[in-house]
Amino acid sequence: MTKDELEALAARIADLLSRQAWVPAPVRPEPPGPPTPGHLPAYAASAQQLSDIAPVIGRRTASGRHRPAYDAIVTAARAAAAGRGPSPLPGGREEATSAAASGRTVKIAISNRHIHIAQADFEKLFGAGKRPAPERPISQPGQFAALEKVKVVGPKGSIEGVRIVGPTRKATQVELSAADCRQIGLEAPVRHSGATAGSAGITLEGPQGSVTLPEGAIVAARHIHVGPPEAGRLGVTDGDRVSVVLGPMDRRVTLHDVLIRSGGSHATEMHLDTDEAHAFGVKTGDVAALAGRPSRFRARAPRGARPLLTERGVDGVAARGETLSEKAPYRLTPLARDRAKALGIWREE
Ligand SMILES: [Zn+2]
Repeated sequence: MTKDELEALAARIADLLSRQAWVPAPVRPEPPGPPTPGHLPAYAASAQQLSDIAPVIGRRTASGRHRPAYDAIVTAARAAAAGRGPSPLPGGREEATSAAASGRTVKIAISNRHIHIAQADFEKLFGAGKRPAPERPISQPGQFAALEKVKVVGPKGSIEGVRIVGPTRKATQVELSAADCRQIGLEAPVRHSGATAGSAGITLEGPQGSVTLPEGAIVAARHIHVGPPEAGRLGVTDGDRVSVVLGPMDRRVTLHDVLIRSGGSHATEMHLDTDEAHAFGVKTGDVAALAGRPSRFRARAPRGARPLLTERGVDGVAARGETLSEKAPYRLTPLARDRAKALGIWREE
C-alpha cells in the first residue's frame, strides 16, 4: 500500500467516525419517582445534587425531590418498627420486598398439574402420527401448553383434563401436587424434573387409548430457573441450593435447599406447585427474595461412576504405597495426574 493510499484510508476512517456518535452521551439515572409517604426512599445518590449532601449555609438547596424530609424518614421507620408499616425485610408486602432485598429477587410462577410426554406415549393416547399442538407458549423458552389434555388415573381415583406441555421429551413425566396424589391414591416422591427413576406408576387415558407407566409420576420439587444474564445479579450458578423468603407478612416463610437450574434454555422464575402456593399465600407474579449465600451442594456422582481424585488424594495413595494409572478406579484431575507423575507412582499402561 502506498503512502497516498494509506492517507486516503485514514481520511475515510476519520470521515466514517465523524458521522456517527462514537461514544454515547452520558445519561444521568433517575429514581423511579417521587417518594411515597410512609415508605423508605429508593436509593438515588446518583440523582442527588452536591448541595443535598453538603449544603452551603445561606444558599438555597435543591428541592429534595429525591429525598423525603428527615421527619418523613423517621415516621416511616417508627411505623415499621411499631408493626404499622410494611416490613423493610424481604418477604413483606410486594412493594416492600422488591425495595428491600437488594435486587436478589425472582418472580414466582405457580405450576398446575401437567404432563411432559414422550412421542410414543402421545401417539398411544391421541393416535398414530399425532403430535402435541401448541395452544400458547409458556414462560420457559421453547415450551408450550398443548391443546391436548388427558385423564390421569391412580388406584383410588382419577383427575380429568390434565394439560400436556410440549414439546415431547424422551420420557413421560407426570407432575402432580401432593394433594392430587392423595386424591387418586398415589404415593409419588418429591423429585426434580427428569429424576423419574423409581417414581410412582400411573395410567393416562386419552381419546384414542391409554398408557400405563411403571414410573413417571412425581411431585415436582420447588426450584428456580435462572437465565444466564440473571445468574450474576443473583450470585448463583447451576446446581446451587439457596434459601428463599416469600409470602405475605402473616404467612411469610423461608424455604431451604431450593435448587437453582441455570443455563441458556431457562427464563428466570421460581416454580412452586399449587399446594405450596396455597400454603404460603402466594400467586403467580409475586416476588421471592434470595437470602444468604448459596450452598454449592452437588449431587453425588451416579452409582458406578469412578470417584474423582484430587492432588491431595494422590498424596494419600502414595502414602499407602499404591500406584496409579489410566485404569485406576478413579478419575484424576489434570493436576492430580501431574502430582502422581511427580511422586513417581504413575504407571503408563
Ligand atoms: Zn420449572
